[in-house]
Amino acid sequence: MEHTAARHMFHSGVLVNDVLFDLGERSFLDRGPRAVFLTHLHADHAFFTEEEFGPLPVPTYAPQRWRSHPEVKVVHGSREVDGLTIIPVPTVHSSSYRSCAYLVEDGISRIMYTGDLVSVQRRYRDRLPEMDLVITDGSFIRHGGLVRKDERGRPHGHTGIPDLVRFFTPLSPRIVFTHFGSWFFKDVEGSVRAIEALSTTAQVEAAYDGMIIEM
Ligand SMILES: [Zn+2]
Ligand SMILES: [Zn+2]
Repeated sequence: MEHTAARHMFHSGVLVNDVLFDLGERSFLDRGPRAVFLTHLHADHAFFTEEEFGPLPVPTYAPQRWRSHPEVKVVHGSREVDGLTIIPVPTVHSSSYRSCAYLVEDGISRIMYTGDLVSVQRRYRDRLPEMDLVITDGSFIRHGGLVRKDERGRPHGHTGIPDLVRFFTPLSPRIVFTHFGSWFFKDVEGSVRAIEALSTTAQVEAAYDGMIIEM
């Protein structure tokens, strides 16, 4: 994202215990993650796709290969890392890049981190389990977001925050939005309140840099 504000400077990255989901900033590696799982290879989620960087120092998984980093492994099926079970869920976002969300379970709680999102791919949509927390895409506050179709009619882009609240509310009591578009930065406090007001049943919140969620 081009816009920025105090507490909203960083590109995408969510650390769950010692496993990192998305690597939008090189500095996130300083946290010493045991593994990195990427939702997709846009540079705001994988800094090394646009910045010069040697081989990634930790096992890194993505929905597809990346030519300049052959050490990136393609994620297939569920994986155990550091006591967490990590399950990729294919999503719709870009016409040129594969993408997935991740379900993360530790036997007690289950969370989902989606990355950028038009939707979860249809055949996985009805099979999502109940979750304790969803962390998802805050690109657009307007209904419908910005979704275009490519020449083959496949949608790409980002759906709206209200659409995501409607989709995830039956599945999770708590929904945290991150990855904000320019709308958010015109009035940060007002934007935070607008997000919080979107549901009366679920707890809906705006993320900020360094936010810690205890489960
Ligand atoms: Zn993206
Ligand atoms: Zn993004």
